[in-house]
Amino acid sequence: MIVKREFYIDGKWVAPATARDFDVIDPSTEEVCAVISLGGRADTDAAVAAAKRAFSTWSMTAPADRLRYVETILEIYKRRAEDMARAISLEMGAPIDLARQSQATSGTWHISNFITAFKTFEFIRPLGAHAPNDRIAMEPIGVVGLITPWNWPMNQVTLKAIPAMLAGCTMVLKPSEIAPLSSIVFAEIVDEAGVPAGVFNMVNGDGVGVGSQLSTHPDVEMISFTGSTRAGIAISKAAADSLKRVCLELGGKGANLIFADADENAVKRGVQHCFNNSGQSCNAPTRMLVERPVYDRAVEIAREVAESTKVASAHETGRHIGPVVSAGQFEKIQALIQKGIDEGARLVAGGLGRPADLNRGYFVRPTVFADVNNQMTIAREDIFGPVLSILPFDSEEEAVEIANDTPYGLTNYVQSQDGARRNRLARRLRSGMVEMNGQSRAAGSPFGGVKASGRAREGGHWGLEEFLEVKAISGWANDAA
Ligand code: NAD
Repeated sequence: MIVKREFYIDGKWVAPATARDFDVIDPSTEEVCAVISLGGRADTDAAVAAAKRAFSTWSMTAPADRLRYVETILEIYKRRAEDMARAISLEMGAPIDLARQSQATSGTWHISNFITAFKTFEFIRPLGAHAPNDRIAMEPIGVVGLITPWNWPMNQVTLKAIPAMLAGCTMVLKPSEIAPLSSIVFAEIVDEAGVPAGVFNMVNGDGVGVGSQLSTHPDVEMISFTGSTRAGIAISKAAADSLKRVCLELGGKGANLIFADADENAVKRGVQHCFNNSGQSCNAPTRMLVERPVYDRAVEIAREVAESTKVASAHETGRHIGPVVSAGQFEKIQALIQKGIDEGARLVAGGLGRPADLNRGYFVRPTVFADVNNQMTIAREDIFGPVLSILPFDSEEEAVEIANDTPYGLTNYVQSQDGARRNRLARRLRSGMVEMNGQSRAAGSPFGGVKASGRAREGGHWGLEEFLEVKAISGWANDAA
C-alpha cells in the first residue's frame, strides 16, 4: 500500500499542517490502494507563498534557461514512464496497456509539443512597421492555480504545468483527490529536474478545501481548471472577487455525423472512440448521428462492437476497457442508463448492472441506445461512461441542427467522402474542435471548446499564451540590448 501524506512545497516534501487522511480506491477491486492527506488553508497558503516568492526570479529567467529545465523534465518523464503508467492505471482504472500507450504517453506528447512551440515563440514582438519604437511583450501572469481531474490525469497536468513553467509563471497544482498518485510521480520528476524551489508546488486536497482556497486566494492571478461544468461555474464565481483569469476546460457531448457515404469503418471507429477510457473523456463522440439510409446497419454494427468489447480489470494486459473511476461515477452512469430506458430510448446492447463475469469493481456494461432523440437526458448530459446514443437524421441541415442543439461545444466529428460537405460542416458545427474521417488533430493543435465546454485553449502556442499577459510598450530603444 502506498502512503504519501506529504505535499511538495518550496522544493521539499512537507507534512500537512493538520493531518487529514484520505483513501485512494483501486476501481478494479474497490480496495484502498493508497493513503494521502487532504490539505487545508495553511498548506495552500504555504504553497502560494512559496510560488509568490519564486515568481520574481523565475519570471525574469532567460527563456533558454526555462527550456533547459523542461527538456530535463521530459528526459526524466520518459525514464519514469512505467511508474507513471502504473500510478495512473491504479488510481483511475485505465487498463495497464492503455495507461502505457495513451495515458502516460500523452504527457510525453504534450511536453515535446510545448518544447517545439516554445522554440519559435516570440516573447517580445514588434507592433508593426508603422511603429518602430513599439513593442509587445508577452509576460507571465504570475502565480497560477492548476486544478485537474482524474480521467486523463497526466494529459491535464502536463497541459497546464509545462506551459505555465515555460511562460515564467510559478504554480500550485491541486490534482484530483481521487487520482493523486500520478501527480506525486510528476512532482518527483520536477524535483529531480532541479527546477528552482517554489516554481512548482503540489498540494493534495478536495474541491471545497484546497480547490476553493486557490480559487479565492488574493495572491493567485489565474486558475486553469479541467473538470465538470458544475465545478467550472463554482470556480468562476469564487474567482470573481479577486478578478482572476479563469481558463476552463469542461465537459462535452460530441456529435459524430455519419453520412451514407462514410467509409466502412466509420461506425466501428466511432463506437470504439466513445468507449475508449471507459467513456471517461470530455471529447468522446457520445451522440452518433446517422443518415437514415445507413441507420439500421449502423445500429447493428454498434451492437456488435459493444457486445465484443471486453470489460476487465485494469491490472490485466490487453485492449479491453477497465472500470469507471469511482462508486459515485458508477452510480451516476447507472442512473442515466435507467433514465434512457424510462424515456423510451431503444436499448440495443449493455444496460444496467455489471458485466456478468464481474461482481466487484466499478465495471459498466458497454451500452448502446438507438432511436434516441436529442431532448432525452442521455442525449443532453455528459454521462462519462461507455454509453453511446444513436440518433437518425434525414438531411445535412437537420444533422447540423441536432449537433449544435446542446449546451456543450467541445469536439464534433464528421464522416463523409464528400470533401466539400466536410469543409462546410467544419465551419457550421459550434465547437472548439472538429475532427473528420478519423484523422486526429496534429501536434500543436489547440484543445478547447465553446459554451458549457469552457473556453480554454490548451496545447501549442495557444497553450503558452494562456499563461501570458500582453504588455504594450512605446519608446523602445532599438539600438540598446
Ligand atoms: P469535478 O469537476 O468535481 O472534479 C475535478 C477537479 O475539480 C478535482 O480536482 C476536484 O477536486 C476539483 N473541484 C471540484 N469542485 C471544486 C470547487 N468547487 N472548486 C475548486 N475545485 C473543485 O469532477 P467529478 O465530480 O470528479 O466528476 C463529475 C463529472 O465531471 C463527470 O461525470 C464528468 O461529467 C465531468 N468531468 C469532466 C472532465 C473533463 O475532462 N472535462 C473531467 C472529470 C470530470
